[in-house]
Amino acid sequence: MISRNPAIANIKAGYLFPEIAKRRREYAAAHPEARIISLGVGNTTEPILPHIDAGLVEGARRLGAAETYSGYQDEGLAELRAKISAVFYRGAFTEEEVFISDGAKCDIGRLQLLFGAGVPVAVQDPSYPVYVDGSVLIGAAGPWAGSGYGGITYLPCTAENGYFPDLAGLPENGLFYFCSPNNPTGATASREQLTALVREAGKRGTLIIFDAAYAEYIRDPALPKSIFEIDGARNCAIEVNSFSKPAGFTGVRLGWTVVPRDLRYAGGESVNADWGRVCGTIFNGASNIAQYGALAALDGEGIREMRELCDFYLGNARLIREALTGLGVSSVGGDNSPYIWAHFPGRDSWEVFAEILERCQVVTTPGSGFGSAGESFVRFSAFGHRADVEEACKRLSRL
Ligand code: PLP
Repeated sequence: MISRNPAIANIKAGYLFPEIAKRRREYAAAHPEARIISLGVGNTTEPILPHIDAGLVEGARRLGAAETYSGYQDEGLAELRAKISAVFYRGAFTEEEVFISDGAKCDIGRLQLLFGAGVPVAVQDPSYPVYVDGSVLIGAAGPWAGSGYGGITYLPCTAENGYFPDLAGLPENGLFYFCSPNNPTGATASREQLTALVREAGKRGTLIIFDAAYAEYIRDPALPKSIFEIDGARNCAIEVNSFSKPAGFTGVRLGWTVVPRDLRYAGGESVNADWGRVCGTIFNGASNIAQYGALAALDGEGIREMRELCDFYLGNARLIREALTGLGVSSVGGDNSPYIWAHFPGRDSWEVFAEILERCQVVTTPGSGFGSAGESFVRFSAFGHRADVEEACKRLSRL
């Protein structure tokens, strides 16, 4: 029989979320009367708001009429690419620099095809699992890694360093995945921190893949929403982003990636041109229906609705943080992000997860699942119905 890709056995997320689901199932089987509340996964729960929803309906209607029907759009509707540049980047990018995707995660998975297995990769520790797993799948790391493989470096982001890594660890001529506002810590990088990151990346020839999936949760006007607010980033960064969390498009699937024309490989070739080539080769573009939803999201009324939706989840985050503070548990995040990173010093993350499940019937995510620097933390997600979040907060007093 055909042999298995050895990388598959090393995928981390393939362990974390199924393990959480398994423990939840086991608890539910042993306690059939329990009403379990999940503050574990980062899945949205609230309906898409009316103006944006009408955009989706309009997208479906257009497909049903000969005059407005459209087929493959490859890199995306030109109108949407231009509108994303206008709304999120003050028009700083041409349409050709904005690529529409079926979501940030999908693009993160595809981006490494540009660089191959030989590229050294660094991630924040803890980190969103797909940065590591995408690298593992392409063969950059694993027990078999040796010459010809780049390997993965984990840069700790802890309370001691304000959840911002030591930039001395950036890989020379390699890739660095950076997420702000961060999943899972909820920490949001300051302008000074991002300026230092861009400067260091420029010096070392590091390419930053900046994940801004939670940018619309930023409420502090001093905090940058995009890496491209920083001078010099056009020469060393790609940004991935998504309508999933600000517009509730987790099940609709629509995101975008900005690849500046100024970005070049060591040999001088255009990264932008290659990204177009990769997308055209293995991706035939995002749903036209979803793109009409996104166009509506970028109207004045759609922007207002996205803000309202993010404010709702930030309200949940505030309740969770207040409940934790009331218990004397220190936490970060939740102010400019929908995640709260709660510290239980000296404790094992899975043990805390189990205690919260048993005493409160609330599901969280053990911090160690996001990397070894996440040990002794658990992540609370603010994605949930308000009544469930209020009930979960009440139950936390049983800890
Ligand atoms: N990036 C981060 C940091 C995330 O937390 C998530 C989802 O939880 C994604 C990307 C996925 O975004 P999308 O739904 O657009 O694939």
